Amino acid sequence: MAFEGLSERLQSALQKLRGKGKVNEADVKAAMREVRLALLEADVNFKVVKEFVSKVSERAVGQEVLKSLTPGQQVIKVVNEELTQLMGGSQAKLSLTSKPSVIMMVGLQGAGKTTTAGKLAHYLRKQNKQPLLVAGDVYRPAAIRQLEVLGEQIDIPVFSMGDQENPVTIAEKGIAHGKEEGHDVVIVDTAGRLHIDETMMDELKAIRQEVSPDEVLLVVDAMTGQDAVNVAENFNREMALTGVVLTKLDGDTRGGAALSVRAVTDCPVKFAGMGEKVDALEPFHPERMASRILGMGDVLTLIEKAQANVDQEKAKDLERKMRTQQFTFDDFLDQMDQVRNMGPLDEILGMMPGAGQMKGLKNLQVDEKQLTKVEAIIRSMTPEEKQHPDIINASRRRRLAAGSGTTVQDVNRLIKQFMDMKKMMKQFSSMTKGKKKKGMGR
Ligand code: GDP
Repeated sequence: MAFEGLSERLQSALQKLRGKGKVNEADVKAAMREVRLALLEADVNFKVVKEFVSKVSERAVGQEVLKSLTPGQQVIKVVNEELTQLMGGSQAKLSLTSKPSVIMMVGLQGAGKTTTAGKLAHYLRKQNKQPLLVAGDVYRPAAIRQLEVLGEQIDIPVFSMGDQENPVTIAEKGIAHGKEEGHDVVIVDTAGRLHIDETMMDELKAIRQEVSPDEVLLVVDAMTGQDAVNVAENFNREMALTGVVLTKLDGDTRGGAALSVRAVTDCPVKFAGMGEKVDALEPFHPERMASRILGMGDVLTLIEKAQANVDQEKAKDLERKMRTQQFTFDDFLDQMDQVRNMGPLDEILGMMPGAGQMKGLKNLQVDEKQLTKVEAIIRSMTPEEKQHPDIINASRRRRLAAGSGTTVQDVNRLIKQFMDMKKMMKQFSSMTKGKKKKGMGR
C-alpha cells in the first residue's frame, strides 16, 4: 500500500506527542529526530529532509503551539501543513488551452508511460473531452500495439504510423488528424530509453519544438525513489516539463519520490498512478496525500470514488433492504462488485481516517483470492439458495464447495459470516428504531 512504511513510522513518532497535555522543546526535538529518521528511511532526498525538519521544528517550538491547549495535536497539524507544502501546496491542474490541446508524454522505458497515456485519455473523457491517442513510441517494440489494444479497451481512437516513421512526423500528422476529426485533446506517446541519453533528448526536443504542446508530462516510477527524482531533475533541465506523473504509487511503501520530486525539481506532480487498471489514475492532491500519510484518511477521495462508482439507486435500495432485513446473497454479490469497482480494498481502507491505528485493520491483509472464493461460492448457489440461505443444508454445502472449487469449510465460513452480518443488521436496525421512537416522544 502507498506510504505504508513511512506512515507507520511518522505516526508512531508523533503519537507520543498526541496525548500529552504539556509539550516542551525537548519533546518536540525528540519527535523531530524520529521524523527525520522516518523520512530518510523512506528515501526522501536528504536536503529536503533537513529543510523540512528545520521548518517544522521552528514552528513547533513557537509559543502558539506549545502554549496551546492541545500542543501535541498542534505539532501534528504543523507536520501536516508542511508535508502538504512539500508536495506542492495545492493541486496542480492540467492547463489545456490550444485547440486541440496537446499533451506530450515523456519518460524512461518501463516507467508506465504508455499505460499512463491510456489512463489519462480515459480520465479526460470522463471530463467530457474527446481525446485522441498518438502512438509515437517507435523505440520499444510492443509499445504501438500496446497502445492500440489499450485504445480498443477504453474505446478511444489511436493514431499510428508504424515504427518506421520519424517520431516528429508521427506527432505532427497525429495532431493534424486529431484536428480534422474534431478531437479537443491529443495525447502523444513518445519513445523512452532504458537510460537518459542524448538521442532520446534530441528526439523529444525536436517534437516539442515542432508541436508546442500545452503540457509536457514526465512519467516516473515512484518505486525507484531517488532515481525517479534524478530522472525528473534531468528531464526538467532539458525539456522544461509542465508536470510529473508518479506511477506505481500503489506499490510504493516508502514514498521518497512523492515527497521529494516537487521540492527538488520545482515541477508539480499532477497525477499519481495507483494500479495497473485503466481507471487507476488520480489527480495528485498534496493536502490529501499528507493526510493519508499521517493516518488521517482521505475522506474526500473516498467520497469521489464512491460517487463515481457506486450506483446511487442501488445504494438506496440496499439501505432499505438492510433496514427491513431482506438482504440476500444476491445483494451481497452486488455490494462486493460495487466496492471492488472503487479499487483495491487495502487502498480504500487506507483512506479511512484512523484505519492505520485500528488494531484489527492494521494486520488485515485484504486477500483478493479470498474474495474470489466468496464470489465463486455465491455464484454456485441456486436463485432460491441466494434468497433463502436457511435452506443450505449439509448436502447443499458439499455441492457448493464442489461447484466452486472450494472446501466445505470455506462454504461454512461464508454462510456463518452472512448470518452474523444479518444478525448485526437486525440489532442495528432495532437500535436505531429505538432511538427514533425516543426522539418522537420528546
Ligand atoms: P512504458 O515503457 O513507460 O511505456 O511502460 P508501460 O506503460 O508499458 O508500463 C510498464 C509496466 O508498469 C506495465 O506492466 C504496467 O501495467 C505497469 N504500471 C504502469 N503504471 C502503473 C501503476 O500506477 N501501478 C502499477 N502497479 N503498475 C503500473
